[in-house]
Amino acid sequence: MRLFDLHCDTIYECAVGGHGIAKNNLQLDLKRGLKYDKWGQVFAVWMPDSLRGDEAWRQCEKMLQYFHKEAQENSQQMLVVNSADDLETAMNTDRCAAILAVEGGSALAGRIETLDLMSSLKVKIITLTWNGSNELGHGCMSDCKDGLTDFGKQAVTEMEKRNIIPDVSHLNNAGFWDVMQYSSGVVIASHSVSAKIFSHKRNLDEEQFAAIQKRGGLVGLTLCGAQLGQQTFDCIERHLDHYLSLNGENTVAFGCDFDGTDLPPGWGGIEVLQKIYEYFQSKNYDEALLDRIFFGNCYDFFVRL
Ligand SMILES: [Zn+2]
Repeated sequence: MRLFDLHCDTIYECAVGGHGIAKNNLQLDLKRGLKYDKWGQVFAVWMPDSLRGDEAWRQCEKMLQYFHKEAQENSQQMLVVNSADDLETAMNTDRCAAILAVEGGSALAGRIETLDLMSSLKVKIITLTWNGSNELGHGCMSDCKDGLTDFGKQAVTEMEKRNIIPDVSHLNNAGFWDVMQYSSGVVIASHSVSAKIFSHKRNLDEEQFAAIQKRGGLVGLTLCGAQLGQQTFDCIERHLDHYLSLNGENTVAFGCDFDGTDLPPGWGGIEVLQKIYEYFQSKNYDEALLDRIFFGNCYDFFVRL
């Protein structure tokens, strides 16, 4: 099977714990991921809400550089993707196609110019907030219910000019609709499931899913138990089936949140996707549909960038 996953926090865990990306005891490494026939992976640099301003950007930059160093040292096994050509090259040479993201707009340190520094480090996606408030807006766990700040609205517009995709996972409701107003291109929710199936602040309501779908964006199914409701294959299926009932066959993907969420002991890490795929096979899902969800929707999305 082929795999393309929209979200993991492995860079942060590697950088903080001094682990390598090639092989480690975390939930994701190249050794396990490359067992899939093809593998694309979005690697996010997670920004803790305790960091703001220059301190936030300095930490983000350090982690991006750490990742590029790891990528260079393991260049036979992975390629950091900056273009459609890179994506095809990585796939054709059976390397991990690594796409860089920043999870938390606090990394901008309140300056639009930081977007150019991020672009030069091949960042393709920015999750506008984490759970709390930052210079751009307010996360879904913040007490503030306001939409994006003026800086946040400007940031969304400037990101679009630079082909950096806004990721609305973690953002509050008013912020979500501001992103839709101040951008016109694709928007993703990298790791969010359906609020209709399980009501949780981090999950997407029906209107939000429809808005992302209409833009040609992607929604990644997370493995996070708090968001799913139950951390079981059966529950993942309920969220998937609901999105499929909304004609989401070209919108849904996986955004597992490896190294960002606890998993049941038997799941291990990235290797669990093989078991989830086999579970869906045993339920007689169409193979072409499964390939779209596990791989194709993401590939088609990123190859257009
Ligand atoms: Zn997250």
